[in-house]
Amino acid sequence: MHHTPNLPRKTAFMPILSGIHTLGQHLEHLQSHAEDYLPDQCPSCGRAGLWRHGYYTRKSDREGQGLNPIPIPRFRCPHCRRTCSSLPQCIPPRRWYLWAVQELLIRLVLLGYSFNSVCHQWPPSRATLRRWWRRLQERFPRHRDALCARWPWAATGQGFRSFWRHCLSRQPLSEAMLMLLRVGVRMP
Ligand SMILES: [Zn+2]
Repeated sequence: MHHTPNLPRKTAFMPILSGIHTLGQHLEHLQSHAEDYLPDQCPSCGRAGLWRHGYYTRKSDREGQGLNPIPIPRFRCPHCRRTCSSLPQCIPPRRWYLWAVQELLIRLVLLGYSFNSVCHQWPPSRATLRRWWRRLQERFPRHRDALCARWPWAATGQGFRSFWRHCLSRQPLSEAMLMLLRVGVRMP
C-alpha cells in the first residue's frame, strides 16, 4: 500500500451525490441508478476510472423510520488502490444526525426558541445543539463569503441570524453545506 505520511490525507472534496434529500430517496436511487454514485474521479489521486467495491452500512436513520442499516456504496481506485465512498446529499460526512435534523433545530433557534425548549422535543442533546450553533456562528464570515459568491441573493441578509434565515428560506442546509464542502470551507 502506498503511504504518504507527509501529505495531507484529507481532500477538499469528497464524493457526494447531490439532489438526494431523504434516506428513502437514497435507498430507491441506489436500487434503480446505482451508477450515479460513481465518483468522476478518485478523491485521493484525482484520476478517473474507479471500480465499484461493495457497500458499507450506516445507522443514519435516527428517527426510527425502520430504514437502517443504510447502505453506502464504496469504490476502489485502480491507480492508487485506495477506497472511497459516495454519500447522498442528505447524509453529512462524519456526523451522527442528518442535515435535515440539524436544519430543523437551527431554524427553530433562529426563530427564537431556546436550546432547552428545542432539545426537549428533539433527540440531539443540548450540548450537541450548542456545538452546532457555536460553530455556525464562529464560521459565519467564511460561510457568508463563500455562499454569497455562489448565491448573490444571499447577500441581502447581513447579520448572522438574518443571513441564515434568508438562506434557509431559499435553500436547504444540505445544499449550502455541499457548496461549502466543494470550495473547501469547513462546515458547522
Ligand atoms: Zn486514486
